Amino acid sequence: MNEVNSKVLVKLDSCTTNNLEMPVSELNRVGKITANQLKKIGIITVKDLLTHYPFRYEDYSQTLTIEEFKTQKTGTIKVKVNLIANRRSLRKKMIVTEAIVSDKTGSLQVVWFNRGFLTKTIKPGQKIYLAGKIDNANHGLQLINPSYEICTSQKPIHTGGLIPIYPTTTRLTQKQIRFLINQALKISNNMKDWLPVSIKNQHKLINLPFALEQIHFPENQRMLEQAKQRLKFNELFLLQLRNRIIRESRKKEKAPSIKFKLKETKRFVKNLSFKLTDGQRRASWEIINDLESGNKMNRLLEGDVGSGKTIVAIISCLNVVLNNYQVAYMVPTEILAKQQFQNISTLLQKFQIKIGLLTRTSSLVYNPKLRKNEKTTKQNLFKKISSGEINIIIGTHSLIEPKRKISASKIKFKNLGLTIVDEQHRFGVKQRYNLSKLQNENKLSAHFLSLTATPIPRSIALTLYGDLDLSIIEKMPPGRKKIITEIVESEQKINTYQFVRKEIKNGRQAFIICPLINPSTSLIYDYNKINKLETKSVKEEYQKLSKDIFPNLKIDFIHGKLKKEEKEKIMEDFSSNKIKVLISTTVVEVGIDVPNATIMIIKGAEHFGLAQLYQLRGRIGRGSDQSYCFLFVGNEGIKIKKRLKALLKAKNGFELAQKDLELRGPGKIYGNEQSGFLDSLKIAKLTDTELIQETRLAAKTAIKNCPDLIKKVKKSIDITHSE
Ligand code: ADP
Ligand code: MG
Repeated sequence: MNEVNSKVLVKLDSCTTNNLEMPVSELNRVGKITANQLKKIGIITVKDLLTHYPFRYEDYSQTLTIEEFKTQKTGTIKVKVNLIANRRSLRKKMIVTEAIVSDKTGSLQVVWFNRGFLTKTIKPGQKIYLAGKIDNANHGLQLINPSYEICTSQKPIHTGGLIPIYPTTTRLTQKQIRFLINQALKISNNMKDWLPVSIKNQHKLINLPFALEQIHFPENQRMLEQAKQRLKFNELFLLQLRNRIIRESRKKEKAPSIKFKLKETKRFVKNLSFKLTDGQRRASWEIINDLESGNKMNRLLEGDVGSGKTIVAIISCLNVVLNNYQVAYMVPTEILAKQQFQNISTLLQKFQIKIGLLTRTSSLVYNPKLRKNEKTTKQNLFKKISSGEINIIIGTHSLIEPKRKISASKIKFKNLGLTIVDEQHRFGVKQRYNLSKLQNENKLSAHFLSLTATPIPRSIALTLYGDLDLSIIEKMPPGRKKIITEIVESEQKINTYQFVRKEIKNGRQAFIICPLINPSTSLIYDYNKINKLETKSVKEEYQKLSKDIFPNLKIDFIHGKLKKEEKEKIMEDFSSNKIKVLISTTVVEVGIDVPNATIMIIKGAEHFGLAQLYQLRGRIGRGSDQSYCFLFVGNEGIKIKKRLKALLKAKNGFELAQKDLELRGPGKIYGNEQSGFLDSLKIAKLTDTELIQETRLAAKTAIKNCPDLIKKVKKSIDITHSE
């Protein structure tokens, strides 16, 4: 799983030498205070220090004479100190250090502010390097606040080249970091490069110790590029290799061979009220082939909101059930569970298939003979699952975390053939993993299918979920109307509300989405805390809107904290057009299907990621009427508007995801729970598309040609898996 990645990478990289795991406190000039400061920026070991890469460089690469410097303005000079002294500037109440320096071509005045200590280190007569930019001050040319370095026999690290600038804290100077990294580099110098020579040659990569040296203190731009290339290659290559190894080992796992039921599948498809799209057809076919193979399927089905993934999933379910195996189908919310339960039982009506529903608060069985739902206890439902009476069980997290009170252990299946996780991006890595481990009585593993509407570009999906095979539904079913989307600033909000009132008068309905409280954590983990905050904002919005904006309309609100019955009642009332305006948290993000709702206002739109806005918006535009989405923003800067504008322009979710990625970076979009491994990408980016391709091929070759390396990587995967 992805979360183990960073550990794998660390272990692999350092298995060549133990010194890299040495704590920084053992370096020269690192006392308690400095060690603490370093810890603040995530540096604990020498290795951390080495991979604390500069975020930019200042170019002082040209060493000039003073004469040249005066015309070129930036660069480094090697000079003699003639004079240096402090004086107190009365007006500005600070210490000014002034110096006169010279070389064969002339002399120059240098000024530092608030660096009184300099007179202790720099003495008249000394030779020093100075790097910086020359300014035209009142008294002629002056060099202000330059970096300096006393000349020794060693190569300068603060001046005279591309000077690294590091992310740091206020208490830790650039100079300190450079000094420490310089020490760390001496330790790493005799480190062995783990990358096989054949790969290095083929991809024209420089040695690892040399790359580390050059990333920190590059000789020139060209060397810097080569260093970057090598270090990025490291990260992406290891990631791909690890994914490939896991994938291959999984491929050896056996799962029931599910015979393709051609006749029944055809009958099912023919009875649909629409024709399958090419994408749906292709994806179904890929899944059917996997299921039949006898090896365990691990597939991700990706497709935009509304692209019709459910049908593909149902076709798989049908085949599995007709082969006398069971299906477990997990979805992220109760509302969606119930909807899928109804949806699937209706669509499979013609086949004698018993379907169960299990959520925190409900347990139902669809009886195909009577064509109706029957209430049952959870205990009973569990029994029916383990006896094999239930063919398909649809549920929420409850499937993998049944309450202890009710069941001493996890649900037992008689013969589970397939597990499906819908809207998989809403689950954590752990939960998905637990689902994939659902057990049969006979311990045989089940096939695994994951559905997601996060439209991740193919190349990135292959990296993020490289341990899965991928099916993509690229195109939407025909005949959908484009949703008109507008960014609305404070002044225009009144007009928008007016428009909404008019549309409602014409019979339409509206969603109003309240701002997300904390986009980066709300996806998974601390549901409780987020729920509380979101609930508060929904209630406040409700009070305001029902009083001031929509006083004569039936308006209601929904959020995750409401009781199941309340939620269902509200959703039913909204579906049947009794409620005109529904205020909600992102619980409507997934699953709700109300074609008459044609308006969505998203408040605080700037707090959402594009991909998420896109998904929210997918709740409207489902019927034949024109739909509108209004993105309410505060008086935010141009940058945010630029991001939101991408939403207006994007042709599809894939294009949008690419934009989001460029504008916000992967960490924010895919959330931490998905991207545990992104921490291990310190220099490579998911936008390094070419290198991603290249490393993918390299990993493929390495599996065949580099057994020693594979052994090492395997070992590090085993270690972390068993933790
Ligand atoms: P998602 O991919 O977001 O899960 P759904 O499976 O819920 O999408 O499908 C969205 C809607 O599109 C449903 O109402 C479904 O019946 C409809 N649909 C699915 N496939 C097609 C198709 N090929 N042509 C027309 N409508 C379709
Ligand atoms: Mg869906």
